[in-house]
Amino acid sequence: MQAIGVDLGGHKVVAGLVQGDSIEKKIEERTEPTRKPQPVIDQIARITRELGAGEDIPVGVCIPGGIDAAREYAVMVTNFVGWNGLPIRRMLENAVGGRTAIENDANAYALGEGFAGAAKGMTDYVVLTLGTGIGGGIVAGGRLLTGAHGIAGELGHMVLGYEELCGPGCRGFGHFEAMCGADALERKAKEMGLGEAPVLKDLWLMREEPAVAPLWDFALNNIARGIASLMHIFDPQLVIVGGGLRKGPEFMELLETRIPRYLGEPFKRTMNLCSSVLDTDAPIFGAAASALARKNPAPL
Ligand SMILES: [Zn+2]
Repeated sequence: MQAIGVDLGGHKVVAGLVQGDSIEKKIEERTEPTRKPQPVIDQIARITRELGAGEDIPVGVCIPGGIDAAREYAVMVTNFVGWNGLPIRRMLENAVGGRTAIENDANAYALGEGFAGAAKGMTDYVVLTLGTGIGGGIVAGGRLLTGAHGIAGELGHMVLGYEELCGPGCRGFGHFEAMCGADALERKAKEMGLGEAPVLKDLWLMREEPAVAPLWDFALNNIARGIASLMHIFDPQLVIVGGGLRKGPEFMELLETRIPRYLGEPFKRTMNLCSSVLDTDAPIFGAAASALARKNPAPL
């Protein structure tokens, strides 16, 4: 069974023809520069047609923003112009000329790991992506958790702190991402006097130096607290960590040792943590999986 998954980002759009566990063919382009709905949709339609989209091969597109519970409308796509409130799925379907689905990008990442990655065959798992921002998705009882309004699973906005102000488009206080997102950690490093433009990757390699160690104590402990909370709430079979931060040498090992301290007794025995296996391909697999899952388009 084939499907096309499209990962739409602010800078690039990557589309892949998915067959089983592999991507047979991939096309990557710079995102249409106006980022307005119709030109971007036309770009996606052209790329997916090159990959064979049509009657037999459905298309799933992951959107870098909020979508409604029925997966029809864009609700809040902050980095794109004029998308909010538009029936994006139907507009895509008209342009592509075949069955389409839309999904939020972080949720698509989670669906991808279940479709072809670390959580294949699992019914209950959590994906947490640690990058510039913090995102993720939750699959519970075999279904993606979407919530009443379609926006569940905003793992980066768990409140783990107090006064840290979250970025534009959120503006809440004390959010996980405002504490442990890569941008936030670099800001914190600067405040700690670790340089004018500190680079997280370099600071990780210096993690044992006395001046740098407190930064990573803060980051690892808070990420561990976040994961422990997710385990208590969802009782997952597996927690998958994605994003750039985890790629530092020994990052996953050091993170794993910090989690049990925050876990209740029964959860210490069920802890199961791993690194994402699909990495940047995960949203492509996830978008393709949503296209395959969407058998009966909702009437509009
Ligand atoms: Zn926030």
